[in-house]
Amino acid sequence: MYPLGNHCIMSSQFKFFSLAALVFYSSVFLYCSQPSSLPNVNDPISLSGSTMGTYYKVTVAELPPSIHPDELKAAIDRLLEKTNAQMSTYISDSELSRFNQYRKTDWFPVSSETALVVEEALNIHQLTEEAFDITVGPLVNLWGFGPSGGKGTILSQEKINSTLKKVGSHHLQSRFTPPSLKKDIVDLYLDLSGIAKGFGVDHISAYLVSIGINDFLVDIGGEMKARGHKNDGMLWKIAIERPVIDKQEIQKVITLNNKAIATSGDYRNYFDKDGQRYSHEINPKTGQPVQHRLASVTVLAPSCMRADALATAFMVLGPQKGYQLAERERLPVLFIIKGADGFFEKATPEFNKNIHSKG
Ligand code: ADP
Ligand code: MG
Repeated sequence: MYPLGNHCIMSSQFKFFSLAALVFYSSVFLYCSQPSSLPNVNDPISLSGSTMGTYYKVTVAELPPSIHPDELKAAIDRLLEKTNAQMSTYISDSELSRFNQYRKTDWFPVSSETALVVEEALNIHQLTEEAFDITVGPLVNLWGFGPSGGKGTILSQEKINSTLKKVGSHHLQSRFTPPSLKKDIVDLYLDLSGIAKGFGVDHISAYLVSIGINDFLVDIGGEMKARGHKNDGMLWKIAIERPVIDKQEIQKVITLNNKAIATSGDYRNYFDKDGQRYSHEINPKTGQPVQHRLASVTVLAPSCMRADALATAFMVLGPQKGYQLAERERLPVLFIIKGADGFFEKATPEFNKNIHSKG
């Protein structure tokens, strides 16, 4: 049930990165290959590296003979570098950072990728009763969860209220022709950290399909997309992590059939103060980090950017409101909630319908 320790992927470097993962592999840990050596025809290929403050890992069931693993890894690295240069708030001259620094309210040209992600973020904002809001950046930074760090301090309501004035997706517009963004207050500051990893997963997946690779699992920090089958003809299997601190334990093993999956939780990026957990998902209405009994949320969706953003939104909405919305919208969502005797699960009927096996 828990074979991770036996496998070569758990090098100390990977152990560090895997702490950030909210969903991790089970069976894919069984496969290890050296990217620099040519594989046997039936060996799976596993390529990994770091991006977006976490790891990425791409497992391909079978590589066409014309594609060398090193070349594929270089292409994936280039794609991810491009995405970071577009959407990262951790890069001061990224497209997004330049928009954030822009002191005017006219249209600001961006890449079609950034416009797409912002557009999807605005859709999810509507769908989630405004719980997902990429303009929450100033509050993320104020609480110390942003690029400058500094988390650990409880803020005064006065400080929160003055920052809340800079927040709200109604201040933001996006368009595709030509791709551009527009803000109606110059202090608006976008944070795509709650959706960009998912986009990165979708982007790599689309690239793999475009070069004729149709059986793969792409993972960036636990946000994943599976397509096709493993080498043994079975669907890709992944483990949903039990939301515990400093340990990797399996809550549930599921099988993914051409779907994306994302998890958000309160147990990887947070601080505790006076017995209260403050985690990095911020409620854009109150300006407060989420403080409820929801430990993690896992969402299945056709695209990983959608799953990623929805998982963040459900963390904000919490176990009751979140579950009601997920049920009403018929979304496949698993809530793991802290109870008096440990964790308990609450899954929507769509979630149970969409997972193909349990462990
Ligand atoms: P992880 O990065 O661990 O996958 P999430 O996907 O839940 O976690 O993203 C959390 C990040 O999203 C935060 O660190 C912050 O940058 C940003 N964020 C926080 N609250 C919100 C929110 N309400 N809407 C959109 N983005 C948010
Ligand atoms: Mg996420």
